[in-house]
Amino acid sequence: MARMCYAFTILLALTGQAGAVEPQPSEKIPVVASFSILADFARQLGGERVTVTALVGPNGDTHVYQPKPSDVKELGSARLILINGLGLEGWIVRLVTASKSKAHIVIATQGIKPQQRREEGRVSLDPHAWQSIANAKIYVANIRDGLIATDPLSADIYRAHAEEYLEKLSALEEEVKAAVGQIPPERREIITTHDAFGYFGTAYGFKFIAPEGVSTETEASAGDVAKIIRQIKAQKIPAVFLENVVDPRLLRTIATESGAKIGGTLYSDALSPPDGPAATYIDMMRNNVGALSDALRP
Ligand code: ZN
Repeated sequence: MARMCYAFTILLALTGQAGAVEPQPSEKIPVVASFSILADFARQLGGERVTVTALVGPNGDTHVYQPKPSDVKELGSARLILINGLGLEGWIVRLVTASKSKAHIVIATQGIKPQQRREEGRVSLDPHAWQSIANAKIYVANIRDGLIATDPLSADIYRAHAEEYLEKLSALEEEVKAAVGQIPPERREIITTHDAFGYFGTAYGFKFIAPEGVSTETEASAGDVAKIIRQIKAQKIPAVFLENVVDPRLLRTIATESGAKIGGTLYSDALSPPDGPAATYIDMMRNNVGALSDALRP
């Protein structure tokens, strides 16, 4: 992580608004987000003032993304770049540097208290901070400030959109807490493929167990899988959940061998395409809590 922070410091020093001309209200602001959830926040806040591109699109896995040559071009013409940070996008620093971008950069998790995971004796930061709605509000504040810094003439528009959207997030938070309250605490232990729900678990009182760690880069070993199957049987864990960004085969095997049911698909690291059930962050959280409630309520 120290290396990652250092890399971001260099990135922030390389870019910036030195000499940038303030965009006129007639000109849309090109925003590039590393992945779909940040792109949704930018659309909610920017509205008609922005055109937003996500490098990793719907159902994409940001951990293992292979950048395309066109990404460098997108970043080169962006006025604002949105990055999650906490080690999610290991590929982004090289890409932004290659693009020679002069854009303003926002690290959306700035100010969030990171959670850690211990994996094989190594401590890793958990990048999936957006899975807590309280954290999503910090993302939104950071992105709002980035839009204002990039396009100060439209500051009032961004502030108004942010205020409205933050109210929706507060209402969503109440809705999620009420739905979770209907699930008995002893049934709130479940299995997913990779460890993407640590912040969700802390915020809403769940325990998630995953054969893969906080990144999908390292595959689960046969030993890890066997251990989880034993754990499901011993603790009578009711359900396993597939994820939209990972291959479902591993979890299907675990479900078959342990006797746990498949509770549905959780959207962990990406939204669905526009016609899917999780096309926005708010729909994603509703979809996930709905799937958990359907599978776990007595
Ligand atoms: Zn992940």
